[in-house]
Amino acid sequence: MKIFNKILAVLFPQKCLGCKKENEILCSDCLLKINRPDTPYLNGVHIAANYQDLVLKKSLWLLKYRGAKQLAKPLAELIKERIWKKLETEDWFIVPIPLSKNKMRRRGYNQTELIAKELSDNICADVLLKKFHTKSQVEVKDKEERLTNIIGSFEIKNPEKIKGKKIILIDDVYTTGATMREAKKILISAGVKKVVGIAVARG
Ligand SMILES: [Zn+2]
Repeated sequence: MKIFNKILAVLFPQKCLGCKKENEILCSDCLLKINRPDTPYLNGVHIAANYQDLVLKKSLWLLKYRGAKQLAKPLAELIKERIWKKLETEDWFIVPIPLSKNKMRRRGYNQTELIAKELSDNICADVLLKKFHTKSQVEVKDKEERLTNIIGSFEIKNPEKIKGKKIILIDDVYTTGATMREAKKILISAGVKKVVGIAVARG
């Protein structure tokens, strides 16, 4: 299999999603050209990029649905460049927005957790859990349904790990804000001192 992959890599070298330069999936020049969001800070959430940017949209899609896990690193770099530097993050814990068990089993990884791991070693991925799958906020067209769909979908395990701590919640796409709001609510009720959100893009 390894040899097969090597042959593939020679025949079809990895090309940058932006400029097609070989041997990189998203080069640093193209990364920094990704459009900034119209509103970089909204309802307690810092946002790194505009989802309408085609390179960004494709990167998130490949990371989420095509197993291109190596994209977690450049996307985390974008967060570091545009948000992380401005926050004092030393004593904060990172909590990724989780996937439901079913979804995790099918996909095999949580793309948001991969990004979070590239940001910091201070990560708590076993605290905030998703009880059941909810349709993504983009899929739910009805506004009412969109807001009720997420309520009660999270639960907390191992609350002692986060009690009195400051948490940075990480999500890939910020749409209505309902996911972040619901996650924040349950973290605060579990004794977390403060919650700040970071999303890669605003949808
Ligand atoms: Zn490039």
